[in-house]
Amino acid sequence: MPESHENPAPDAIYAALQGVNDPELHRDLVTLGRVRHVEITENGTARIGIRLESLTGPIRQRLKQDIEDALAPLGLPTIEIEFSAGLTTAPDQPQPVKANTGTEQPQQNPQDQAREGNPLPDIKHIIAVGAGKGGVGKSTISVNLAVALARQGNKVGLMDGDIYGPSVPTMLGTSAYPPKAVGNTIIPYNVHGIKAMSVGSLVEDDQALIWRGPMAHGAFRQLATQTNWGELDYLIIDLPPGTGDVPLTMAQLLPLTGAVVVCTPQKVAQDDAKRAIAMFKQLGIEVLGLVENMSYFIGDDGKEYDLFGKGGAQMLAHQMGLPVLGQIPINTALRYNADAGDPIANFTGDPQLASELGTLASTVADQVATVSLELEQATPTITIRD
Ligand code: ADP
Repeated sequence: MPESHENPAPDAIYAALQGVNDPELHRDLVTLGRVRHVEITENGTARIGIRLESLTGPIRQRLKQDIEDALAPLGLPTIEIEFSAGLTTAPDQPQPVKANTGTEQPQQNPQDQAREGNPLPDIKHIIAVGAGKGGVGKSTISVNLAVALARQGNKVGLMDGDIYGPSVPTMLGTSAYPPKAVGNTIIPYNVHGIKAMSVGSLVEDDQALIWRGPMAHGAFRQLATQTNWGELDYLIIDLPPGTGDVPLTMAQLLPLTGAVVVCTPQKVAQDDAKRAIAMFKQLGIEVLGLVENMSYFIGDDGKEYDLFGKGGAQMLAHQMGLPVLGQIPINTALRYNADAGDPIANFTGDPQLASELGTLASTVADQVATVSLELEQATPTITIRD
């Protein structure tokens, strides 16, 4: 016991909890947002609430012991630890979107729900980047779109919500740097002119990212709401491929201006993209348009080669009544600079690539402006007269 009878401040408890790792995710409890509350009563009892998905006895017991050991130097007379499955309880749990059978009451659009309780009011436009399947270049487009918008003078954040295959830390070169947190707040990386945070920064590299539904939901929510994004013009969200839990969580949590769908030119890719478009529409999210990635290839002879049949996205866009926001060629520099964590090199090394990426960003920004205007006009205003 220390000599002084003064109770330690909750900050001291948070600081001590930063030394305790989650037994499953191997990151500290504070960074992971596991600490629900810390309270010190008048008689010095510390009450600590911990969110934990795995409520199995041994895990709980081990964590309890680790917390008690970490807090021992503070000399608290009693420590009460309350574990709760915080990420699986009612308010946090996404409600599945059910098909309207006609016999049920029409349900609330997830986006209306998100607009009512917007947790990120300082962000002007939240834009999701999705794809029907993996490997089409969704993360490449997210990263370069974010950097291009920042280079055009905007304040931009990039959130890597691809919890199953987070590649943003590699693409931004942040993998070697552990994230910082102050209390419950995650400090985003300030790199290449943007603020960025990835679920990949919160878990070990070699850890298999097998998330159960509620965990995926919790991880996404923490990344979005506990990261100190500050004021932004655009927050770009790199979604996992396909139509899983995360887009639903996002749609219920964050009011989006819209979504960008990335696809490749092949016919089979169109079907995947259609599914992604349908998903966004079902979630009440406006689709801003399509990006055709790996659209064509410019050979050393300067000629354009359409390896996969350039223009597939144009046909799909026409069918779906959507704009094509950009066509990005296969360019080895894009892959090389992604692996090297140096997206700025895409804008300084090859003028043609820089111009293609710049045009993509301007087209997205124009489309965002148009859609926001429509959204504003669609929101009824009530005038009260004397
Ligand atoms: P996704 O996020 O859809 O899984 P990625 O963005 O991770 O896809 O891209 C998959 C791989 O393809 C990465 O190695 C990336 O560098 C590469 N890549 C993506 N787009 C291009 C492109 N236009 N030209 C060359 N390589 C690309």
